[in-house]
Amino acid sequence: MISVEEALEKVLSYVEVLEAEEKPILDCLGQVLVEDVYSDISIPPLDNAAMDGYAVRAEDTRGASPQSPRTLRVIDTVAAGSISQKEVTPGTAIRIMTGAPVPKGAGCVVQFEHTDEAQRRGAFAKIGILHQAEPGLNIRRAGEDVASGARVLSRGITVRPAEVGMLASLGRAAARVIRRPEVAILATGNELVDVGRPLSPGKIYNSNTYSVASLVRRYGGIPRVLGIALDSESSLVDSLRRGLDADMLITTGGVSAGDYDVVKDVLAKEGQIAFWTVRMKPGKPLAFGTIKGADKAGRPRNIPHLGLPGNPVSAMVTFELFARPAILKMLGKKNLTKPTIEAVIQDSVTNTDGRRIYTRAVVEKRDGRYFARLTGPQGSGILTSMSLADGLVIIPEDRASVEPGEIVKVIMLDWSEEL
Ligand code: AMP
Ligand code: MG
Repeated sequence: MISVEEALEKVLSYVEVLEAEEKPILDCLGQVLVEDVYSDISIPPLDNAAMDGYAVRAEDTRGASPQSPRTLRVIDTVAAGSISQKEVTPGTAIRIMTGAPVPKGAGCVVQFEHTDEAQRRGAFAKIGILHQAEPGLNIRRAGEDVASGARVLSRGITVRPAEVGMLASLGRAAARVIRRPEVAILATGNELVDVGRPLSPGKIYNSNTYSVASLVRRYGGIPRVLGIALDSESSLVDSLRRGLDADMLITTGGVSAGDYDVVKDVLAKEGQIAFWTVRMKPGKPLAFGTIKGADKAGRPRNIPHLGLPGNPVSAMVTFELFARPAILKMLGKKNLTKPTIEAVIQDSVTNTDGRRIYTRAVVEKRDGRYFARLTGPQGSGILTSMSLADGLVIIPEDRASVEPGEIVKVIMLDWSEEL
């Protein structure tokens, strides 16, 4: 049995960063940029008004106050999107809206509230300036956000909403990012029935495909659901064939030591086993290796295959620990670990066989400290323990027990808004 760290290192050594693709900027969200993005325009393109008001010469406002306004002749009005053909000359002003280019001759913009416009009731031929304004007041300078020629985004960053907006502000319709991995998902088990069908005696619904596909999608991959295979080598091989051009294969079930646990036999025959069993709980029976397949162009290629345990909790926990980092690596991400915090545990946990335990917990923040309490029964078949949890408490393999009040590490599955 290998440690969680050894297993993860092994898995990561079999996956590579994927190739780049060019796609519409909105579709790039969450993906890693593979190009440095330079601007060939200035943003904003021209000096423009930061407020609705009057574009004036700063000199013409000198000494202005509510008691002693400076009265200027209004020679034009300019809205965002238009350019005034007039020039502000001594004694004149141009009425201007936010975003409109500052007319020639003007040195500042006096906001409406600092003029007597409200008292003029539509008679806008003249305007009284009530406050002295310094040169540059309420003017956004050309290029103050982005200078023409500047590098705006660097390769390697993850595209977030701000970056999508940034690309749009440069006029870019598409960008180059690392493509998303396609992950083929196959459930195994003679007892499984797919959702939407009647349940016959002795059968259970297939939930793993759905939780695993959701996790794939959540962490940036594209799930391809292959359905349910029976517990026979031929059924498994037939089903797996439909996933051999994916970037990764994930099966659930069939990796224990039972009579019908054929996944590792198939791995051994159709590829190579890298490891089987990890010193953790839940999730000890976890098979990993490669299966001979082909890429989209038909070239032979070994596809990483993660054989997750069938128990619904084990499947999800091992996914978080091994499949998630593999997907993130393929996506070109650098940080492969989930946020981990320290919390005060409120229950005792015993560790009988020296495995690392991941117990499901609810994490709450009180007086600036995190507290973790178990979700209840912790069997690896008890999916409600995942549904109730927002974190996984780590009980180290070298601890026989952990008592209430001790500080433990918690991998946050979710960062609930309350925290
Ligand atoms: P296995 O690893 O195949 O021995 O499965 C362990 C346990 O998980 C058994 O009780 C299975 O019935 C259950 N199980 C396996 N696959 C699934 C699945 N796709 N959905 C829900 N439960 C499953
Ligand atoms: Mg099974």
